[in-house]
Parts: sequence; structure tokens; C-alpha cells
Amino acid sequence: MSSNHIDRRTVLAATTALGAAAVMPGSASAQGTAAPSGGALPARGDFVIRGAHVLTMDRDLGDLASGEVHVRNGEIVAVGVATNAPGAEVIDGKGMICLPGFVDTHWHHWTTLLRPVMQADDPKKTYFPVTFAFGVHYTPEDSYRAVRLGLAQAVAAGVTTTHNWAHNVRSPAHADAEVRAMRDGGLRGRFAYGPALGMPNDKPMDLADIARMKKEIGNDPMLTLGICSRNVDGNTGGTRGAIDAAMAKKEWSAARELGLPITLHTSGTGAVKLLNEAGLLGPDLQLVHPLNTEPADWEALAKHGVRYSVSPLGEAGRSGEMQFPEIMQAGVKASISIDNVTAERCDCFACMRMMQTINRHRTGGKFKLTTKKLVQMATIEGAEDLGFADRIGSLTPGKRADLILVRTGEPHMGDIGDPYDALVQLAQPSDVDTVVVDGRILRRKGAFTALDYGKLLSDAAQSIAALKQKANWS
Ligand SMILES: [Zn+2]
Repeated sequence: MSSNHIDRRTVLAATTALGAAAVMPGSASAQGTAAPSGGALPARGDFVIRGAHVLTMDRDLGDLASGEVHVRNGEIVAVGVATNAPGAEVIDGKGMICLPGFVDTHWHHWTTLLRPVMQADDPKKTYFPVTFAFGVHYTPEDSYRAVRLGLAQAVAAGVTTTHNWAHNVRSPAHADAEVRAMRDGGLRGRFAYGPALGMPNDKPMDLADIARMKKEIGNDPMLTLGICSRNVDGNTGGTRGAIDAAMAKKEWSAARELGLPITLHTSGTGAVKLLNEAGLLGPDLQLVHPLNTEPADWEALAKHGVRYSVSPLGEAGRSGEMQFPEIMQAGVKASISIDNVTAERCDCFACMRMMQTINRHRTGGKFKLTTKKLVQMATIEGAEDLGFADRIGSLTPGKRADLILVRTGEPHMGDIGDPYDALVQLAQPSDVDTVVVDGRILRRKGAFTALDYGKLLSDAAQSIAALKQKANWS
């Protein structure tokens, strides 16, 4: 588009600057640590995307069949049919859908290293036995490498915000390593500080170090802190740890005193009832895996403003019904999560498609779950779940620039009709052309702009070799 078009532009300019920050205060260089493995982050630029089908996910701005998005120094400065962006680099968005980056709301990044030792059809080598056998031997460096690898897979698939559900924090150094990896990886996210795998159920998490981490993260605009709790469902077995209501009260009230949100797995029966009776439900609580719940649970969750994260790819392979239609119908808000990339891949398109399919299969379409709603769940509603909606989740002037471009021309998509249908029913991660996080272009034309992915892979291979020896794995 030439500059002549600017005269008849309709520009929606920024009126406020939300969450603006040019520097990440906790970046590796600011901390005086070594240069990050895999390369430094690219600088924030001044660029305008032109000619894309823009899905703003902003209820007022709506969609633009051929629109422009101007980004400068990490901020979305204008969105419209045409924008006034002299001097800005032009990114041709023709044939592409531009939308906010995907927001994952639950992902155990520390397990990412372990894919090479998994074997789907050998019960001794599936997710739970492998993660437990290896997890107890993790060094902080293993944690760092795993998170970096997970974040790279996230970026490649268009995920720009992640909830790092770290349920194997073996020491303060492990926590530091995971947070450093998140900063070096350049994604936005919440670090959910968890227990150490295998720790005694009658011992609390390291609450003093969680308080230290709260100060360390401070007001970093890219990162927030929460906790992930061990299971609270009346059972005391299991490799992941299971605590009683008294321990949950102790840990959760310490987190709540610090203003930290809480997340918890609840794939068994009874957890919601127990939490409700213990007075532990609240709007700062996110539950994961709505399987095997009951109508009374849905009512309690809606009443207390509790949210649910749905991991469709994993849940579809587990026993029990995937109940996201029931909980959503009851008024409980739900978001979408990857969970792990050892047994599945990072693929938000497949997550949305799986939810559409399961909903039709289970309800015959009686519960209306449109393709647009699914894309909302994967973007703005995920941002709401994690408390980032003031900064990201929609292409709104004044928000930070977390966005992706998805190509539509490949044979499996062809000449698309409805863009939401295309994203849910046709697209795949390899269609993600460009990924921008906080104004940094981390991926362009389907390739990393600065990241040395080969280095991350070779580092991961080193960790796996050492962990195999420690775990006496054959
Ligand atoms: Zn999980």
C-alpha cells in the first residue's frame, strides 16, 4: 500500500499507553549474568503490518478484512484500515490472518526435555513414570534448558504468553533458573512456583523463597508470579504429591498474603467439594482439567469466580468426560492450555479443533461453542485468566504488541472463507509466519529471527544424557 492511501485513512490511534516498558529489569544483562544460551533477543522495532485480515479480538474494534497494525517500541500505536506510519518497516500481511498471540494457561515447561525418552505404548515410559524418574534428578541447568526448549516450541506455534506450571522446583536455584529462562526466551508469562517432585506431603512448599521470588520479579511487565499447589482431593497417594485441607490452607494463605494467584490440578473426583467446604475457593484460583466434576461443583465454582484451564489434547486421552461444556454453561470461565509437549505438541489450532469436535460429540451442538469463541478463549480470555488482559490479548492501541500472522495460502487451507473457521478447522503451527512478543519479532517467515534452536537442542541432549545416567535409565 502506498503512502497516498494515508489521506483517506481511518486511524485508531492510541490514547493511553498500558504497561509500557522498554527494558526488562530482570533481563540476563541487567542481572550481570552470562549471555543467554541460544542468542539474545532481537530489539523492539517500528513496523506496520499491511493488508492482513486483522482479527483484533477487541469488542469495539472488531475485524478488518484488510487492515493495518502499527507497532512502535513494543506498543500497538494504531490499528485501522490504514495507518500513518512514516519510516516504519512494512510487513506485507496479504494472504495472512493477523491476531493476538495465543495465551497458554497451563504448561509444565520443565518436562520438555523428556520427549526423547517417552514411548507411547510402553506403560513404563509414558508421561508420569518418566517425569517422576527423571524429575528428582534435575539440576537448575536442566530446568533452564527445558524451559528454553519449551518456550522455543511455543514461539514457533504462535504462543506468546504461557503459564509456566513449575511443579518441580527443587531449590531456590531451580526457581531462579526457570525465571531466567522465561526472561531469556522473551515470552510473556506467569511463573507458578511449585513444590519439589517427591517432597513429603506433610512438609510445606518453600514459602520463604516464594516471598523472595515475589520481590525478585517485582514489577517486571513481562512476568508475574503465582503458586501451583499439590493435589487437594482427599487422596494421599500419587507421585505428584497430595496434601490435605490443612496444608492447603497454610500454603494458600501464605500465597494470598503475598497477593499471588493459585493453580491446582483437579482431574479426580471430590476436589472441588473439599475445597469449597474448606473455604478455599476464590477468584484468584485457577483449576486445571475439568474432568469428573459434578453439578454442585459447577455452581460453587461459578459463585466464587474460579476459572478452569482446559488441556484438550491430553484430556481427550484420559478417562472421564471432558466437561468444559457443562462448566461453561454454568458460568465458569474457561481457557486453553498445552499442558506439556512430551506426549503432545504445542498446537493451539489443534486444541481449539479438539474442543469443537468434543463439544459436538458430547452435546450434539446443544452447547454453542463457535469458532470465534474458541479463538477468544485462546487469546483474550486466556489473558484474562492470567491477569494480563490490561496489556495483551487483543490488538488494541495502547496495549503491548503480542501478535501473530498466520498464512492462509497452503493447500490445506487454500482460499479461506471465514477466518475463525480457518484458524480452528484448518490451520496448523507451520502456518504461523510471524510472531511478535512485546514488539520483538521473534519469528518471521516461519523461522526464528535470533534464536539458535540447534543450540537449545544440543544443550537439551546433554542434559538428557546426564539425567539418564542419574536415573539409571535404559
Ligand atoms: Zn498439568
